[in-house]
Amino acid sequence: MISLNNVHKSYVTGNSPLHVLKGIDLEIGRGEFVSIMGSSGSGKSTLLNILGILDNYEEGSYYLNGTLIRDMSEKKAAKLRNDLLGFVFQSFNLISFKNAMENVALPLYYQGVNRKKRNKIALEYLEKMGLLQWATHMPNELSGGQKQRVAIARSLITRPKIIVADEPTGALDTTTSYEVMDILKEINEDGITVVIVTHEHDIAAMTHKIVRLKDGVISEIIKNGDLKEWKHQYRKELEIA
Ligand code: ATP
Ligand code: MG
Repeated sequence: MISLNNVHKSYVTGNSPLHVLKGIDLEIGRGEFVSIMGSSGSGKSTLLNILGILDNYEEGSYYLNGTLIRDMSEKKAAKLRNDLLGFVFQSFNLISFKNAMENVALPLYYQGVNRKKRNKIALEYLEKMGLLQWATHMPNELSGGQKQRVAIARSLITRPKIIVADEPTGALDTTTSYEVMDILKEINEDGITVVIVTHEHDIAAMTHKIVRLKDGVISEIIKNGDLKEWKHQYRKELEIA
């Protein structure tokens, strides 16, 4: 489903390029639940933006569902994003002057669905998130967890095959983080591939595969069965540090 081979990405600011991704090889299959970890500035968001066709790369290849994602027109990229991808962000990215239902319905507005139909569908998704009674509330009247559930409902409304989420629990307390992760887990159990970035080990441990980014490459991939051992190992590293 997702296949990256030797992907390189640099940012050019001023006259010194910053080589962030230095040859990423990564396979993510349909239905996987994957987390990407790595220290601040290691390129996690950069990688996620490439996966989400929000940014380009200079070298290597990225195939999404068999399509080479490389230097494509914004129109084609937008179509692929619309057909395949749903996005969730740390800061929720809700529109402050639209209520919860309108926020959820927004992707359908861009698809030209009429107001009555899109609001009806939005309410169905809000109900799935347990937020029906908040439908007419504005984002500033919602808690962080509620806002993130609205954002998840919005990401699901176009029936994506893949959800990409950059630190979806980064702005939430521990209890709310687990609630949001439980929702992502359910979404994954419905067959949607979920890729998240997180720097919290306990959050990553809820996914099936952890990809560790270090020095611009993938330094380690830990599968579910090995997580217990990995957490133990990580704690030891912490104790030493
Ligand atoms: P964090 O955990 O802090 O979110 P990250 O792993 O997501 O970090 P990125 O945001 O991918 O890291 O950034 C990787 C590096 O690229 C950083 O050094 C950052 O300053 C730089 N960078 C990111 N975006 C840009 C940009 N648009 N232009 C220039 N440099 C950028
Ligand atoms: Mg980031």
